[in-house]
Amino acid sequence: MMMLTRKMIQIRGLLQTVGQSDSLTLPSIVVIGSQSSGKSSVLEAIVGHEFLPKGSNMVTRRPIELTLVNTPDAHAEYGEFPALGQARITDFGQIQKTLTDLNLAVPPEQCVSDDPIQLRIYSPNVPDLSLIDLPGYIQVTGRDQPPELKEKIAELCDKYIKAPNVILAISAADVDMANSTALRASRRVDPRGERTLGVITKMDLVDPERGASLLKDQKYALRLGYVGVVCRAPSNASSSKLFHRGSGNIMQAVTKNEAAYFSSHPEFGPDSHLAVGTKSLRKKLMHVLEQTMAASLKTTAEAIQRELAEATYEYKVQYNERPLSAESYLAESLDAFKHAFRGFSEQFGREQVRELLKHELDQQVLNLLAQKYWNRPFDDLSAAVPESDPLSGLMKADPQGQNQIWQIKLDSSSAALTKLGVGRLATSVVANALQAHIDRLITQSRFSAHPFARQAITEASTSILKDLSYDIADELEICIKPYKYRIEVEDHEWAKGRDNVAKVLKEELKVCEDAVKRLEEQMGGRKKVKDVMSFIDRVRSGQVVLEGDGVGGAGGFSAALLRKGREAVFLRDRVDVLKMRLMAVKSKQCANKKNKYHCPEVFLDAVADKLTTTADLFLDAELLSKFYYIFPRELDARLGRGLSQAEIDRFAREDPKIRRHLDVVRRKELLEHVLKEMESLRQLEAREKRYSARL
Ligand code: GDP
Repeated sequence: MMMLTRKMIQIRGLLQTVGQSDSLTLPSIVVIGSQSSGKSSVLEAIVGHEFLPKGSNMVTRRPIELTLVNTPDAHAEYGEFPALGQARITDFGQIQKTLTDLNLAVPPEQCVSDDPIQLRIYSPNVPDLSLIDLPGYIQVTGRDQPPELKEKIAELCDKYIKAPNVILAISAADVDMANSTALRASRRVDPRGERTLGVITKMDLVDPERGASLLKDQKYALRLGYVGVVCRAPSNASSSKLFHRGSGNIMQAVTKNEAAYFSSHPEFGPDSHLAVGTKSLRKKLMHVLEQTMAASLKTTAEAIQRELAEATYEYKVQYNERPLSAESYLAESLDAFKHAFRGFSEQFGREQVRELLKHELDQQVLNLLAQKYWNRPFDDLSAAVPESDPLSGLMKADPQGQNQIWQIKLDSSSAALTKLGVGRLATSVVANALQAHIDRLITQSRFSAHPFARQAITEASTSILKDLSYDIADELEICIKPYKYRIEVEDHEWAKGRDNVAKVLKEELKVCEDAVKRLEEQMGGRKKVKDVMSFIDRVRSGQVVLEGDGVGGAGGFSAALLRKGREAVFLRDRVDVLKMRLMAVKSKQCANKKNKYHCPEVFLDAVADKLTTTADLFLDAELLSKFYYIFPRELDARLGRGLSQAEIDRFAREDPKIRRHLDVVRRKELLEHVLKEMESLRQLEAREKRYSARL
């Protein structure tokens, strides 16, 4: 029979991991009693160790689900808290301390919590049992206790004493049975006394006659009867040593003490047929638990089958029977991401780098041109307008190219371009682009729903790019060094530069024209813009003299309007310059590189092109190919091998959709497992029946 109980307790434990559904559990023995009724002493006598929290300050605030596992061949006795994932605890004083900490973790204002503490105790001396210890009933609330404590404890106990659980109602012999809170509570839910086992403690505190009559109680008759116990040694010195707190096994001492007490009083002799002593209580408990669990098996199995059918249906309909585990989900997600990355790396090569860099350098060339060629100092309103004014006498100036100023200008422009820090600039442009692409890939991947993975991937790419960029920028700077001294432009390079810069100027022209349009919309139409601009022009040409600096508004226009007007003037002038330069670039004069001082745009474009060619080659070989090699390996390290099981689970469960899917799969697997266990239990039962029939 032992095997059966153990198996059922195992199944009960399995069901606990499935979820706390009332129908999905096997019954247990629930221990109730008033404070100081001797409840802890009884439980400790059964276990054989002192392990329950002690103290005056309501130390039991949570239910303790105690599973006792008989280990006949082992010597060691130890406990485990499955929820804490701790190893075996062989020191029962430590178990007591952990239980005390777990209980005291419930804040005093909450009084009690229905979140159970699970504790398993393995020992050759304990029977296979499953017991739930509840906070003791109190009669009056102490001054430092919340007033609703009494009700809260009663409510918590009510939750547990429901059928089909067995109630172990503890009452002290020296208290009138009519006042036993435990018996009263049990009568409310089990009026016919069918699933309540009475325990009368402190039998040594009443005279034997009265003690015996309590056990024979007819007033509160219980089908499972009463057991009388003495769980504490008399206070004489020699025996109390045996009960020394925190000592080793107390079972022997209790049994010895009880035997001495009960055998010395004929009222409890064999003829009395009274059940006395913790030993017989233990036996009774095993028997009752086994019977009760066995009786519940069928309904529990049915409930499990229903749940399983539901889980299977959900698995089929919602998830198309797609198997899933946290590991497989991570592995698939990582593979998909690496695949997408490979796809990207095949499309993002030297050509794309070149485009990026050329665009960046085109902008630098435009800036240089604006600074060195297209500017003219501002007049009156200069304090409040952009620093450069794009009017220039370039086209009119020195068409023969005799004036040295143009040579100096071009040389200094080209030097400015080559000494811009192209190494750092180009490297960071490409690194930033790579990072942006990685960010995009993350967003498009499954990892988008996983903050943990997002961060891991982003950190991987940023750290690799940072490491690579440092040296690469310096090395690239060395590669372009020759251009800092001398630049020869070939005819075909000139022709290409001319074509390209014409495109760049056109694009810039479009950008300016669009900006003008936007300004017109913001300022209230073309006419308004014209009025403001002509006012500004008149100020600039000296036709109108401003009083003050015009910051607060002038000429009937608000300060804001004037500010926008100045922007419009700037853009108009820039448009003029761009048109003019575009014409120049397209003119015959700029077709020949001999005229380079008249066509700085073309020359600078050709220089930018040379710089780009060096940089794209270098960055393709150094930055891209290294990054493409290292990054997937780093991903493996950070999201593959490097993760613990707990991290993988946490990762997969970050996505609510996956969490639900995983839950269904897990629930289904667990229920299937439980059913299989129940089937083996059924076979075991049948075998035992056959065996006992043969005897
Ligand atoms: P709980 O509050 O219900 O858990 O009660 P305890 O087990 O802590 O016991 C309350 C007090 O009664 C303690 O001082 C115990 O030593 C004492 N006690 C428990 N059982 C017996 C018993 O059988 N006989 C005697 N004389 N005292 C007992």
